[in-house]
Amino acid sequence: VKLALAELAALINPTALATDAATLEAYGFDATRTRGEVLAVVWPATTAEVAALVQWARRYHTPIIPRGRGTGMTGGSVPMTPSVVLSLERMTAIHSLDLSNRSVRVGPGAVNGDLQQFLAPHGFFWPTDPSSSFYCSIGGNIAEGTGGPKAVKYGVTKDWVLGLTAVTGSGEVIHTGAGTSKSVTGYDLTRLLVGSEGTLAIVTEAILKIAPQPQTKATIRAIYRGVKEAAEAVAAIMSSHITPSALEFIDAASCRAIETFNPVGLPDGAGGMLMIEVEGSVEGVATEAAEVERLAAVEGVISLRRAQNAAEAASLWKSRKALSPALLRINPQKINEDIVVPVGRLPELVQWLEGQSKEQNIPIANFGHAGNGNIHVNLMVDPADTAMMARAEPLLDTLFHKVIEMGGSLSGEHGIGTMKSAWLGLEVDPATLATMQGVRKVFDPDGILNPGKIFPA
Ligand SMILES: Cc1cc2nc3c(=O)[nH]c(=O)nc-3n(C[C@H](O)[C@H](O)[C@H](O)COP(=O)(O)OP(=O)(O)OC[C@H]3O[C@@H](n4cnc5c(N)ncnc54)[C@H](O)[C@@H]3O)c2cc1C
Repeated sequence: VKLALAELAALINPTALATDAATLEAYGFDATRTRGEVLAVVWPATTAEVAALVQWARRYHTPIIPRGRGTGMTGGSVPMTPSVVLSLERMTAIHSLDLSNRSVRVGPGAVNGDLQQFLAPHGFFWPTDPSSSFYCSIGGNIAEGTGGPKAVKYGVTKDWVLGLTAVTGSGEVIHTGAGTSKSVTGYDLTRLLVGSEGTLAIVTEAILKIAPQPQTKATIRAIYRGVKEAAEAVAAIMSSHITPSALEFIDAASCRAIETFNPVGLPDGAGGMLMIEVEGSVEGVATEAAEVERLAAVEGVISLRRAQNAAEAASLWKSRKALSPALLRINPQKINEDIVVPVGRLPELVQWLEGQSKEQNIPIANFGHAGNGNIHVNLMVDPADTAMMARAEPLLDTLFHKVIEMGGSLSGEHGIGTMKSAWLGLEVDPATLATMQGVRKVFDPDGILNPGKIFPA
């Protein structure tokens, strides 16, 4: 190992390699809090350096783990066996902006929030808007196929990437897609790489499609007696001709967590809440907001309130974005899922979850992107309570079976990683799974890129 690491050190700037215990510890985990063994951390600065590092890894049969900022929710950047972590943190450049082409060329290490701040004065934004935007990287967004509240109107990351430069597991540099907003030349390898969780290639540059900021927005907060009523309002809005730019669902447990962590004056009896945003021209938004309020006023609505100004709207969104960490006040550990069901079946799902929470005596907090049927189901558990932990695993299994039975999907935006790989076969049939594994072999013949992710062991 020592010999191999000495050769590795010769490939890059000496300050771009670390093997000290503190650094290895810091780069061995992600937001799942699972840990793996790191042999060395490298911070390449160019595509050529990434290629040289991958070629080194191939020679020494050493797994290489691409890493953005470690905010992943499914263990994607955590090594399964002793590995070299390849951090993209130094490749943060925003290379060029082409407004008439509506595109921006960026390094994979650029932080999502920094890109948004760069684009804002030009009147544009990149529609991938996860709650972690101020911490996560563009490369991580691409590798996970990340989404956020805006996905209901704009779609997810795969809809906003035009082209990529990447290094495959063979150490080859490939260029996918084009810098133009239209191109159908050859296979769409860009879409294949988006969501591939670092198992096919390491993204070293991306050409992203950007969108103009709307003229104005309106944010509406609707509070309901129960989750079923809130879910019925979601179905009513999504069945109409209006496409909101966000339609977020928050259940009673999550409302309570908001009030404890970052109070916004929710009433005590709040059994479910929706945050609905519409955007566009001044006239269009006035008409659509009124129509959304009418549709949201289903039986069981307790209050409907439109934010009066930008500051009030920002404060509402702030509490929504702070929700994920706030839940940890309920119990010290969160088993966070991001399942998806057809929107019309949300009322059935949320009621079923309420029943399961009572039956299994496990607090479950649900919130998420209801307009896409994408709900973050959080089993709030206490690792010190062994009986509770023993009930959590079968509950998760029951949840995944229920979701697939409802015509849904295991993951809307967090990916599979290691956390959901055991259930992949529930959703993906054997022939499709074999095709995916064949694709992986083409890109990464020796299986050195992020091994142990996505596919069941
Ligand atoms: C509080 C909180 C809120 C969150 N909210 C959301 C949300 O609203 N929506 C959502 O979708 N996700 C959310 N996430 C999850 C996470 O932020 C996203 O998945 C994000 O895209 C991960 O980016 P990262 O830079 O941290 O990647 P990492 O965690 O470092 O890596 C994630 C995966 O991408 C791979 N990878 C990273 N960079 C590259 C690259 N350049 N080339 C190839 N592979 C690479 C890694 O190997 C790994 O498999 C949230 C996480 C937290 C902690």
